[in-house]
Amino acid sequence: MRPSRRISTLNGDGDDGWGLFVAARRMIDAGTPVVELTIGEHDIGTDARIIEAMQASAMAGNTGYAMVPGIDALRDHVAERVTARSGVATTRDNVMITPGGQAALFMAHHAACDEGDRALYIDPYYATYPGTIRSVGAVPVAVQAQSAKGFQPDPDDIAAAAPGARALLINSPNNPTGAIYSDETMRGIARVVRDHDLWLISDEVYDTQVWEGHHISPRSLPGMAERTLQIGSLSKSHAMTGSRCGWIVAPEAVTEDLIQLATNTNYGVAGFVQSAGLFALELGADFEAEVAAPFRRRRDIVLDLVGRQQAVRAIPAQGAMYAMLDIRATGMSGEAFAFALLEQHHIAVMPGESFGQAAAGHIRVALTVEDERLREAVAVLLEFAGTMAGEQA
Ligand code: PMP
Repeated sequence: MRPSRRISTLNGDGDDGWGLFVAARRMIDAGTPVVELTIGEHDIGTDARIIEAMQASAMAGNTGYAMVPGIDALRDHVAERVTARSGVATTRDNVMITPGGQAALFMAHHAACDEGDRALYIDPYYATYPGTIRSVGAVPVAVQAQSAKGFQPDPDDIAAAAPGARALLINSPNNPTGAIYSDETMRGIARVVRDHDLWLISDEVYDTQVWEGHHISPRSLPGMAERTLQIGSLSKSHAMTGSRCGWIVAPEAVTEDLIQLATNTNYGVAGFVQSAGLFALELGADFEAEVAAPFRRRRDIVLDLVGRQQAVRAIPAQGAMYAMLDIRATGMSGEAFAFALLEQHHIAVMPGESFGQAAAGHIRVALTVEDERLREAVAVLLEFAGTMAGEQA
């Protein structure tokens, strides 16, 4: 039997961008030690206190169906957090708890787009974005941000693609680039979104990892709360990737529709996971700063090493847990460079091309190994790039 076109064409041209990651995993499975700098997974596990809260909740009998929109206490806490961080009055009725940010991205596009609608997103992008848009029957349309502009998207470029579109997906702090959209960029984006009557889907899962400048939640800009679907998650902020706990903040009427979508799809998030999520949020800002701190330290390590040579240029990450490096002076594509580095030096980084055309000739280094190992691996990477660039010159 033939599966639906929608599911069999999720990856567009067939390349899902994860080839290098799979190759690295194969090497590891075959017994070769590899320095793994590919995916955005902390090198610490979930804090033992959070796991204990999860266990206590399950042992107390919280193992049945949970409320589909999320338990009231967690929705309230998320609403208070969003109000405090953005200044926009937000209540439980604006919040639905989801199985992670990824499900929230899917559900937000489901809420925003009809079959065949054009849905804009910024390139470089988190690898699932085009597939997520296709999964709701919409048509992904990329708007490129330029490396030379620190990967800040240009509102005029978005405006040029906006006629006839239904939604725009943005992500600040950004994966893979580390860019945090400036006030000017964010205001320009809000203007385009209002002028063209778009939904804005704002992926803010890295909002606790800000190293330079500040994060503006676009829902707080004039006229935006009624057209913004804001996405959050405990994966990055609380090192809870495996727990699958996130949320969508939306206008009340849309939240009601989203609850219907959840009822007919995932039927909510496990109650004991939500109890643990609430416990995690109640640990407060100090805990979030503790989870984020290693990435800031490691970002500085990488910038310092890159600053001492010429072959590789860093796009200084303003936030998130990655370093984006421009390796075009080697004459190689990001993909060729990443595969050669893996084969010759057993260091795995993501090719920029996995994140779109605008990141071609770049690589993304996840700052997810202990400081000294990272320092050593980046030193080898830079030496390799230097050799390649020398051959090129
Ligand atoms: N958005 C971005 C930009 C991400 O990098 C990720 C995970 N890497 C997600 C969303 C999804 O995260 P989760 O589903 O674990 O919340």
